[in-house]
Amino acid sequence: MFDSLKKELSRRALLHRVGFGFMAVGVTGTVGNIIKPAHTLAQAGPAPSNEPSLPPEKKLGWAVVGLGKFATQQIMPSFAECKRSKLVALVSGDRAKAERYAQQYGVNPKNIYNYQSYDSIRNNPEVDVIYIILPNGMHAEYSIRGAQAGKHIMCEKPMANTVEECQAMIDAAKKANRKLMIAYRAQYEPYNLATIKLAQSGKLGKLKLITSDHGRTLNPKDPADIWRMQKKLAGGGSLYDIGIYSLQATRYITGEEPVAISAMMYSTSGDPRFREVEENVNFVLRFPSGVLANCTSSYGYSDTKRIQVFGSDAVLELDPATDYYKHRLMIKDKNGNQEQKIQEKNQFALEIDHLSESIIQNKQPKTSGEEGLQDVKLMQLIYEAARTGKTIKV
Ligand code: NDP
Repeated sequence: MFDSLKKELSRRALLHRVGFGFMAVGVTGTVGNIIKPAHTLAQAGPAPSNEPSLPPEKKLGWAVVGLGKFATQQIMPSFAECKRSKLVALVSGDRAKAERYAQQYGVNPKNIYNYQSYDSIRNNPEVDVIYIILPNGMHAEYSIRGAQAGKHIMCEKPMANTVEECQAMIDAAKKANRKLMIAYRAQYEPYNLATIKLAQSGKLGKLKLITSDHGRTLNPKDPADIWRMQKKLAGGGSLYDIGIYSLQATRYITGEEPVAISAMMYSTSGDPRFREVEENVNFVLRFPSGVLANCTSSYGYSDTKRIQVFGSDAVLELDPATDYYKHRLMIKDKNGNQEQKIQEKNQFALEIDHLSESIIQNKQPKTSGEEGLQDVKLMQLIYEAARTGKTIKV
């Protein structure tokens, strides 16, 4: 017991001495026959990873809206790892479920709301931030009502169904003088941050091509997938749900915006899952520097979350790239293959604390409403390119 404590303390002392917010550990694994020293990767996002936790009374109070799969399995447990944020309120259409979770997370039952009483959250000074984790088609309404109630807003991806809704959300937050952030967790996740740094620092040579593939099987028996088959609630099909990760990756890895888009779309004919939303979308993006991106998005095959970045000197592969945990980063160059090991962090806690920190410091969050709007604009153009068969200039 004492020995393991000593080991843990000396590990922490080492991490502290090296002094990285998002510590990049050495290359411990070898792949192929190459053993190389560690790259010092991973850059601190703006989340205060190394700083001490605020005392509970100083943490910002968060309300979670929609107690579904993602909220209950990933987001609510992550508050335990937050240093700037605490869960203080729940909004749900199911009172009994909300009471169960309130008890589990120590939320005062007086801070449980439903969709009718939601607006009265304005009278609750314990709530600083509202996190919208509802079906996509409800994001705009609940973000706008939340901002009008005087609260800061975190909204899940995709930001909303339409460009107009996204703009209305931005306008509502501005009018209320509140922050609006879109929960693009990959932009707070250490492996993705390391990938950005490697790609943009020239370590791979001149960037030529990115491929980004995201797919999963849509399961009509899973309650969380039922609304995903309905256009009104989902906004779109696989592109809106997971293809957005393919699109996002090309933008944050290049740091550029695409200037041309072409696309193709296909849904298995007669498959009832795809009566209203699409199954597969493949799209190609061209960026101003000349980088091309080949992206795929599918509801038809098994779990895929892969990004590859091809430079003139090396190829980077992140697979899985956008999972919750257990990412794997490989670099292939003239010396062979090497795996880069980076300390995993709870990306949900990092993104939640990022918004709290942005509020405390009165700064624009990194993944603002404008970032969400840009993806929705581009996804609409991807659909248009697929429908018309034309390459669209952005
Ligand atoms: P779920 O269906 O599991 O949860 C949605 C919740 O919204 C429901 O449980 C329900 O909560 C509430 N709700 C209110 N009205 C409706 C309605 N008409 N139909 C269905 N649900 C309703 O979905 P997910 O948790 O998978 O997704 C929610 C959001 O989170 C989506 O925007 C999705 O894109 C995003 N997401 C993001 C992920 C990420 O990695 N960033 C991963 C997964 C999802 P209640 O019963 O409490 O009212």
